[in-house]
Amino acid sequence: MTLRPLIACLALALVAMPAPAQRLPDLGDVSSGSLSEQQERTIGNRIMRDVRIDPAYLDDPEISDYVSSLGARLLSVADTPRPDIDYFVVQDDSINAFALVGGHIGVHTALIMLTQSESELAGVLAHETAHVLQKHQARMIHGASRSQWTSLAALALAILASRSNSSQGGQITEAAVASAGALSMQNQIDYTREHEREADRVGLTLLDRAGFDPRGMEAFFERLLRSNRVNELKGMPSYLRTHPLTTERIADMQDRLQAVGAKMVPDSFDYRLARAKLRAMSGSPSEAVTLFRTALEDQSVLRPREDVYGLAYAQRRARDLDGAWKTLETIRSRPAADAKSLPVFGVAVPPHPAIELLAGQVKADMHKEDEAEAIYRAALRDAPHNRGLAYAYIDLLLRTGRAGVALSDLEERIRYTPEDWRMYELQSRAFEAVKRPIAQHRAQAEAYFRRGNLAAAVDQLEIAVKQTRGSDFYELSIAESRLRDLRSQLEIEKAAEKALKIS
Ligand SMILES: [Zn+2]
Repeated sequence: MTLRPLIACLALALVAMPAPAQRLPDLGDVSSGSLSEQQERTIGNRIMRDVRIDPAYLDDPEISDYVSSLGARLLSVADTPRPDIDYFVVQDDSINAFALVGGHIGVHTALIMLTQSESELAGVLAHETAHVLQKHQARMIHGASRSQWTSLAALALAILASRSNSSQGGQITEAAVASAGALSMQNQIDYTREHEREADRVGLTLLDRAGFDPRGMEAFFERLLRSNRVNELKGMPSYLRTHPLTTERIADMQDRLQAVGAKMVPDSFDYRLARAKLRAMSGSPSEAVTLFRTALEDQSVLRPREDVYGLAYAQRRARDLDGAWKTLETIRSRPAADAKSLPVFGVAVPPHPAIELLAGQVKADMHKEDEAEAIYRAALRDAPHNRGLAYAYIDLLLRTGRAGVALSDLEERIRYTPEDWRMYELQSRAFEAVKRPIAQHRAQAEAYFRRGNLAAAVDQLEIAVKQTRGSDFYELSIAESRLRDLRSQLEIEKAAEKALKIS
């Protein structure tokens, strides 16, 4: 991702639209400083289009679905419903969490790993959610001049761009450096102390109502402040820069906790599993194996399932497939299994989709496709809409030459989740296998469209309508009408860009 599309996306959002572009969302007169919730949302969506195709955007269905469910739980107890808020994960070594314009809340993988309990992670999300619910960004936008506005949007992107993990590509770092000019306004867009206090207060209420330990937020922030003082953790300033954290704030939170009271809340298995998976994904495969082996050596009696899962995940990464399978067998249990082999005193622990997915993947890597398929099918019976399992199962069908079965399965899944771009990508592969080129390119276009890449979607449809081989009138007319639709959307985007250059 280069700076140019970033700027274009920002500029698109900021420039008042030209007259012919009637179908564009009305962004209003930005210079007047008035901005509706709808306008805010539109700008947020523009930014998210670029975020979603950034390599650092974590596209792991298990981890992102878990974080989303945590956010949904907090939102469900808010006074004002905001179903449009969404949560996403950024793969990054620095400690950060942030709310973008329009209610998109991002959290870095390093922050998730730094939390010591689920209530701490929920606490950070509750604080960010409170910023959005209290409209802190919108309040700053109102009355801001246009140049301040630009820098607000630039900051949102720069937060993403200034990631410590430069292995993701030098272009991102370059973009961050180039944005530095816009960032000189940064002081004016940091949350104020008032905003912080309010976010702490509202966040604490959400945390408590949602059934987490209210101490989680304070505990995490206090550790953050302490670590920053001794400068132990790299990348620490990114969070503290945008959320001024003071000893007064900590003291305030402690006062409020007196009133709310503490709760003992055990971490959910999904939290422990997500954290273990992130650890198993980081570093070299052998480092990850060593990490979990060491952790498990210390706990010879009750081996936490998530650490066993982490070891198996790391072993698969290290291509030790037999080892991974043996490790997994100890935590895969089905009710009918031999009682002695069950981990907790003969009580059956229901199979977990993430563990079953990994088991299937290990078998598929061993080229034991039939066994892998049986595992996926059984697991999908228990969790029919689990995305990770569905992707793996359909991928396996395609790799074993059963595109027909895949197509009928996909048809049903796309009806259920019509915005999931991965399903269209799999569908495109399936159509390719059964030699239906028009449908193949149309499905690929739908995948690009849902990832926000309109130009690539139009390209695919143009290829689709030129197909003569296996031409089907019905498929052709669908592709043609979709092409007309997306072409006009693309023209509107281009017109807006052109208008920008004139202004
Ligand atoms: Zn804050």
